[in-house]
Amino acid sequence: MSASASARLNRPLKEVDPEVYEAIYRETRRQADTLELIASENFTSEAVLEATGSVFTNKYAEGYPGRRYYGGCEFVDVVESLARERAKKLFGAEHANVQPHSGTQANIAVYETVLQEGNPVLGMNLTHGGHLSHGHPLNFSGKHYKFIPYGVRRDTETIDYDEVERLAREHQPKLVVAGASAYPRLIDFERMAAIAQSVGCPFMMDMAHIAGLVAAGIHPNPVPHAHFVTTTTHKTLRGPRSGLILCREEFAKALDKVVFPGEQGGPLVHVIAAKAVCLREALQPDFKAYQQQIVANARRLAETLASRGFRIVSGGTDTHLLLVDVYQRGIMGRDAEAWLEKAGITVNKNAIPFDALPPLKASGIRIGTPALTTRGMKEAEMERIGHWIADALEHLGDEALNHRIRSQVGELTSQFPLYTSRLAEVEAALRAG
Ligand code: PLP
Repeated sequence: MSASASARLNRPLKEVDPEVYEAIYRETRRQADTLELIASENFTSEAVLEATGSVFTNKYAEGYPGRRYYGGCEFVDVVESLARERAKKLFGAEHANVQPHSGTQANIAVYETVLQEGNPVLGMNLTHGGHLSHGHPLNFSGKHYKFIPYGVRRDTETIDYDEVERLAREHQPKLVVAGASAYPRLIDFERMAAIAQSVGCPFMMDMAHIAGLVAAGIHPNPVPHAHFVTTTTHKTLRGPRSGLILCREEFAKALDKVVFPGEQGGPLVHVIAAKAVCLREALQPDFKAYQQQIVANARRLAETLASRGFRIVSGGTDTHLLLVDVYQRGIMGRDAEAWLEKAGITVNKNAIPFDALPPLKASGIRIGTPALTTRGMKEAEMERIGHWIADALEHLGDEALNHRIRSQVGELTSQFPLYTSRLAEVEAALRAG
């Protein structure tokens, strides 16, 4: 390589692409300066970010450890084997596939392993908290299989297991899927597994949202009850944006074949390396305290909002998230989300069970505590935040109040610094011109 080509390769991002560099800086500032309450998000460690940004991004590695279609995979095998073994140990699983690029791809891989086109499947109703990849008509799942939705009871807003049982008898599904994106209560894995068994089909649990709680042992583990357990790795588990699948040994070969070569080509080795790191972090004793704090924080936030007269769907939470029925106070979820964002508080609008409004307006907001708990915030901070949310929503349109809340948010976030060395580096460079 000529000297000038090599020099070009070694130039830093801020010189090669100032626009992307600035966007990354601004995003880091945004994450640091606002209150991130989106239930599916978190802040990964510097170690996870370092692995994600590593030279493994250069490497093709079709196949699995010891059986690759490319040379030079010696160190890829190290990180993929570490990730597989750690995932198995953390969740007590017989087999792990750590190659899916995302939670949706993990789910598709399981469907492809056990289903034929058009087969009936039971999945949680999306408007009651289920996920797109559990049968939305525009998603692969809904297009290729016949999903039959089950939901929650009107009175308790918790899963109607009698309905699941009835639907299973009526439709004789080939797979029962549990798991949700906006369900604040524990799911009865034993009951779901028994229903699947009663019609002779496998049970799949998508634990994307609660994987961290499960890893820490503060939430029941679906692995002993489910034939397949899928998850994302970037929510409560606090890893890179990705997915993984756990299954029983009897399905291991077929599942691996569906993931590769069935569903994808080269795995994202840099992301697999980062998954290995997050799984190691989750195996450390302090991870349990972190997950306990997430749940304690969600409870305090729910209690605070309830004390201000907001209706919490299902009356509370057992997990990292809560759903608030803001429409009961005359506010659409869409407007609540936008107004809170102006105050520096990031949440998302969300349908609530039996919602009278369409999803883009929505009656609810979903609030989760994994990210702020990573910053070190505890119950006292949750109480303050809960009151700010209530104040802002009770005075929707009061710009002066919203502005005051925004500055208090800024004071709070500055007491719980995030990614400080990254920000300091860029700011020093900016000062130097
Ligand atoms: N499954 C559940 C229950 C989820 O909540 C999500 C994402 O929010 C996914 C799957 C999909 O994950 P991804 O966005 O990585 O495809």
